Amino acid sequence: MPFSTLSELKTRLDAGDISAVELARQYLERAEKHNPALNAFVHLDAKYVLAQAEASDAYRAAHGARTLEGLPIAIKDIFCTQDGPTQCCSNILKGFHAPYDAHVITRLKEAGAVLFGKTNMDEFAMGSSNETSAFGPCRNPWNSDCIPGGSSGGSAAAVAAALVPAALGTDTGGSIRQPAALTGITGMKPTYGRVSRRGIIAFASSLDQAGPMTRSVRDAAMIGEAIAGHDAGDSTSVADAPEMNWLAACDRVDMQGLKIGKPKEYFIDGMDAGVREAVDAALAACEKLGAEIVDISLPNTQYAVAAYYVIAPSEASANLSRYDGVRFGHRCENPDDLLDMYTRSRDEGFGSEVKRRILTGNFALSSGYYDAYYKKAQQVRTLIRQDFLNAFEKVDVIATPTSPVPAFKIGEKTDDPLTMYLADIFTIALNLAGLPGLSQPCGAVHGLPVGLQWIAPAWREDMLLGAAAAYESATDWSTKVPQGFGGET
Ligand code: GLN
Repeated sequence: MPFSTLSELKTRLDAGDISAVELARQYLERAEKHNPALNAFVHLDAKYVLAQAEASDAYRAAHGARTLEGLPIAIKDIFCTQDGPTQCCSNILKGFHAPYDAHVITRLKEAGAVLFGKTNMDEFAMGSSNETSAFGPCRNPWNSDCIPGGSSGGSAAAVAAALVPAALGTDTGGSIRQPAALTGITGMKPTYGRVSRRGIIAFASSLDQAGPMTRSVRDAAMIGEAIAGHDAGDSTSVADAPEMNWLAACDRVDMQGLKIGKPKEYFIDGMDAGVREAVDAALAACEKLGAEIVDISLPNTQYAVAAYYVIAPSEASANLSRYDGVRFGHRCENPDDLLDMYTRSRDEGFGSEVKRRILTGNFALSSGYYDAYYKKAQQVRTLIRQDFLNAFEKVDVIATPTSPVPAFKIGEKTDDPLTMYLADIFTIALNLAGLPGLSQPCGAVHGLPVGLQWIAPAWREDMLLGAAAAYESATDWSTKVPQGFGGET
């Protein structure tokens, strides 16, 4: 049971083999047993979970099942939920209770899902290792000395260790795909504008997007289908997005006629040799399934990290100015005056990575520097987008490694922000271009998972899902589970 996919659990629930309450109990027991070692959940209220499961069983009995009826789904601590705390793993939001549900949370509730606790993350989603969390680091189930990736590290670890069958994450520069890769699960970042950002605590508004973290490609489609769609409350949520059949896209079992682009800029010196081998082997498997591998070039990729680390901190510095000690969360004791309250509340509330981003962002936006940094970065962004458009004239999808390295040791990169930023080298470009991406397991290096990243044209999540589903059905990487969590065969 524990390592079942959402689809398998749905079949069992629909057949009456198990009730939502029984399912919730089983996962709650697992979370109680394993969370202390992993620190994947920062808030989990068993009573609340069971009450939702009871309500779901009652709904099923009265009206029949909705698409995610009774299925437990964990929520990254960045999504506002009316019930329980929403703290973005920051001291500045310690004890904050949101007055409303994020749009995607409403969507999950409407689909019958059982919200299963809040997961650990880098503070304000700024990080690639989950080490900047105010609640302490989360550990990788495959090796507890290692990070699970970030920023959605708690969601990734919880799903990888089957403390919950699926979770929601957010991805601004890779925060769904990189932790999915480093923990051996599937993670999908939809096209920018596909999913509403309302009620998701803003990091970089032109990049942030929510998506599923799951044990299979079909599970990602099930959640994608539930959370996607227009929301008049988010002006960047697209009203006339092309219709798509999420589940039918996963029926693909071969790759006949599929042209897969292999960008030379994503197979670079300095990346882990084992990662390269695993991804090369995955592409060979795709060829066997009928795909044609086409060498392509995305020349402006080399500027993606630099452009991102101007744009994302700039937007973050504006978004985070709302935390002033007045309206949300932490306020310092006995301020001398208003300015003292602002500065001390912020100083005490934000961690050092968040402060670094605010300083960098304010610098890049300040008069005299705006054109040299922010404007230039936006111009580079256009070039990066154009690279992808050119590539998609020749190929249907693009395949790359998700991360140049497998999970690294806790503490290994914390003193060196630049090295940490380079962890996102393969995931960032598509956020800048607004494109959808998916990471799925495709190998192992020294017992640690390796991820294969798929990139598709805007609004073609069906291409991602189809390619990934075909690969998944032909290989067994998605069925591998970490030792010590009761899933050994
Ligand atoms: N690691 C990147 C950063 O720190 C991306 C984070 C994210 O996608 N939220 O900005």
